[in-house]
Amino acid sequence: MLCDNPVFLSHEMANRQKNCDVLVIGGGVAGICASVSAARGARTILVEKNDFPGGTAVIALHRFICGLYINGSEMPADTLNRGIVREISSALKRLTPEKTVLRMGRVYVLPFNTRDIVSVFRSLTEAEKQHLDLLYETHAVSVKTVRNTITSVTVCSRNGKFDIFPKVVADCSGSGVIIRMSGAWYNKTRFCQRQFAGYTFRVKGLKKVDDMTAVKVPYYLAQEAAKNNIPHYLKFTTFTQGDEADEGYCRLSIPPHENSEARNELAKSDALRVHHFLSQKVPSFRDSMIEEMSPEVADREGLRLRGKYTLTREDILDAEKFPDGIVKNAWPIELWNQEKGPCYHYPPSGDYYEIPLRCLKSENISNLCCAGRCISATHEATGSVRVMGTCMSVGEQAGREAAAMSDF
Ligand SMILES: Cc1cc2nc3c(=O)[nH]c(=O)nc-3n(C[C@H](O)[C@H](O)[C@H](O)COP(=O)(O)OP(=O)(O)OC[C@H]3O[C@@H](n4cnc5c(N)ncnc54)[C@H](O)[C@@H]3O)c2cc1C
Repeated sequence: MLCDNPVFLSHEMANRQKNCDVLVIGGGVAGICASVSAARGARTILVEKNDFPGGTAVIALHRFICGLYINGSEMPADTLNRGIVREISSALKRLTPEKTVLRMGRVYVLPFNTRDIVSVFRSLTEAEKQHLDLLYETHAVSVKTVRNTITSVTVCSRNGKFDIFPKVVADCSGSGVIIRMSGAWYNKTRFCQRQFAGYTFRVKGLKKVDDMTAVKVPYYLAQEAAKNNIPHYLKFTTFTQGDEADEGYCRLSIPPHENSEARNELAKSDALRVHHFLSQKVPSFRDSMIEEMSPEVADREGLRLRGKYTLTREDILDAEKFPDGIVKNAWPIELWNQEKGPCYHYPPSGDYYEIPLRCLKSENISNLCCAGRCISATHEATGSVRVMGTCMSVGEQAGREAAAMSDF
């Protein structure tokens, strides 16, 4: 942690403080959209611990934006939700026109590359710089709550700790750090039921990759797991081809662990083991090399806000609409079960459900909203709302709501 380092503490410490209407914590896909939309109506600060925007989408080497389109037999003409998510998908298409909407089984996704999405996020935030203060490499470390209202958030950067006094806070940290530190009520899935996390590595030097490679990778790993030569969870490893003919991505499923540092180390050694095994067993991998590894394991779920409404599995499968519905979503419930691997449950084809505004608002903290994968939803419903396209639209709505709340 930066603030534990005496070198950083000796710099222009304390006494610095900032005021704002809306404070957004976390610059993942939800936080970027929340901060841009909040800044279009209010003085906003975005705090992000990394030195880049995008969060999990960048760290986990994602390649497809899910949750943008309606499912059905026809190729969707545009995104299901308007607004910033449409600005982002149009900007991505302008940067790489060859990456067009793709059908995968029963759903549609938008392929993208990391460089493009980071550049789109930087341009979007840059365009709002008159009202948007971007604090990268800055952690939110504590929260002061007085009579169920957040009065200040203490953050820590290379220059030391300082306090931010916001009117409204939007928690877009993915893991719900502000929810937890403010005393907001929340729910958490029990360890044994929590979804697999993921760890990705990129391989170069592959030969003759075809559709069967994605079948062979889990098949041979399952055989090896059945012989107890590797842990059983490695049989859920997936393979997708990269943009170049000799490039591919392997994603390992990683079980929950108490200690995130230990889990990262374990995932790295699992990745090396899987790659070594594949180079012996699958001819396409024989002369391949690992070119890039995720810096850390990416969680599919953490704690979730207990909001004024909690979205359920039935809401999704019945394509429920709400009077305060603010975001449409047709992505299935996608659960990475620790025993069975991925399981999918779909809303009706050609239809969508709505996420009500109440799922973004804390039940007990008056000036707290949240967006992204920590909104108020059950464990199963989180399996649908957590995808990037949906997080972006929910982020936009959280930013808009936070700006409106700060105006009172
Ligand atoms: C293995 C895996 C595979 C997935 N595959 C896909 C896919 O192919 N397509 C898809 O659309 N979705 C996919 N998802 C889902 C999707 O990536 C995430 O759910 C989504 O990106 C979450 O966005 P977010 O903004 O809510 O959170 P995050 O991306 O987690 O962003 C939170 C941000 O908050 C910052 N932060 C956290 N704590 C603090 C703090 N104390 N102070 C300051 N900053 C802080 C973090 O650094 C991070 O940047 C996948 C998820 C996983 C785990």
